[in-house]
Amino acid sequence: MNLLNAKKINLLGYDVANMKIFFSEIGEKPFRAVQVVKWIHQYGVDDFAKMTNVSKTLRTKLTAIAEIKTPEIIMEQKARDGTIKWLMRLDGGNSIETVFIPENNRGTLCISSQVGCALDCGFCSTAKQGFNRNLTSSEIIAQLWIANQALNQFAVNDEGISLQKVQDSRHRVITNVVLMGMGEPLLNFDNVVEAIHLMLEDHAYGLSKRRVTISTAGVVPALKRLREECDVSLAISLHAPNDQIRDQIVPLNKKYPIKELLVACQFYFKGDTKKKQFTVEYVMLSGINDSEKNARELAVLLKELPCKINLIPFNPFPESDFVCSKTQVIDRFKDILYKAGYVVVVRKTRGDDIDAACGQLAGKVKDRSRRLN
Ligand code: SAH
Repeated sequence: MNLLNAKKINLLGYDVANMKIFFSEIGEKPFRAVQVVKWIHQYGVDDFAKMTNVSKTLRTKLTAIAEIKTPEIIMEQKARDGTIKWLMRLDGGNSIETVFIPENNRGTLCISSQVGCALDCGFCSTAKQGFNRNLTSSEIIAQLWIANQALNQFAVNDEGISLQKVQDSRHRVITNVVLMGMGEPLLNFDNVVEAIHLMLEDHAYGLSKRRVTISTAGVVPALKRLREECDVSLAISLHAPNDQIRDQIVPLNKKYPIKELLVACQFYFKGDTKKKQFTVEYVMLSGINDSEKNARELAVLLKELPCKINLIPFNPFPESDFVCSKTQVIDRFKDILYKAGYVVVVRKTRGDDIDAACGQLAGKVKDRSRRLN
């Protein structure tokens, strides 16, 4: 192969294991993998020429065959509450959204895993956009890279490397990552797992499993695989106490009903709830899933599971037919679960003045699913 004429390989999304394979394929020592991963993800360097502990010959070779390429930021919006939303341009008219949510003791980055979503949950605006494709591992980790860059979190700046910043995690602004943006992460399994390897990797972002959360509508077979390959924290989008209601609002339920999903969750957390967290998400839809009976039913349904319940007030968007439950109704629902012994949190709506709240991320999707045609 004439490497000079070939398309350059984007190394941004390579985890250490794949980076080692890449270096041995080009006839170099595997230890280079860790060096390059560190430069890219700890120091934020996207130019091989700046990797000063790599020999000059190798830097030239890398520049000829590879690149470190991130999507272009086409918009950055800051909400009154400090939430920041970035719109990033991908190929042929597609774009995705990433959101940073600052809180008192942590900063959460909400990232996307697909361009659009194929699941068609009735209350979600991403669903209305249709589906185009999976994101590559580069495009997934790029969201963390870009947010770190924008928030000035990398250790290399014009004055050089600040080692203290690298070593001291208290300086971190992004402390948590949640895959709760556009898309269903477990339908893009391999790329999501590779990107998460980089999030957990000490030579890259060094986050703990507790602080990286996959949110899923419940792709049951993928949960079994996930436990074996990358058992991070999990949030399931349950949203209903029985199949009758869930079938209507989360169509995936017809394929993987509640009972199967909960058995898979039980297996996922078997013997280990310390290192990773388990959250049940429940969107509050007026007159659909928010009665006192529904709350009691939910309390019984989850009694074997070591979970925290997150009640999400429904965020309306132009094409939606649903209405958010009234505050008193949400409070009553919460109270019933609380009295049944659950830890229940009502999720604060963040960044709603810039449409950055749950289910409001739309990006731009060139729909290819037949569903909308
Ligand atoms: N596909 C994944 C992750 C994306 S959505 C999943 O289903 O979990 C992240 C969370 O926001 C999910 O719990 C989703 O159901 C919820 N959500 C989607 N649209 C919403 C809306 N309009 N208002 C409130 N929450 C919403």
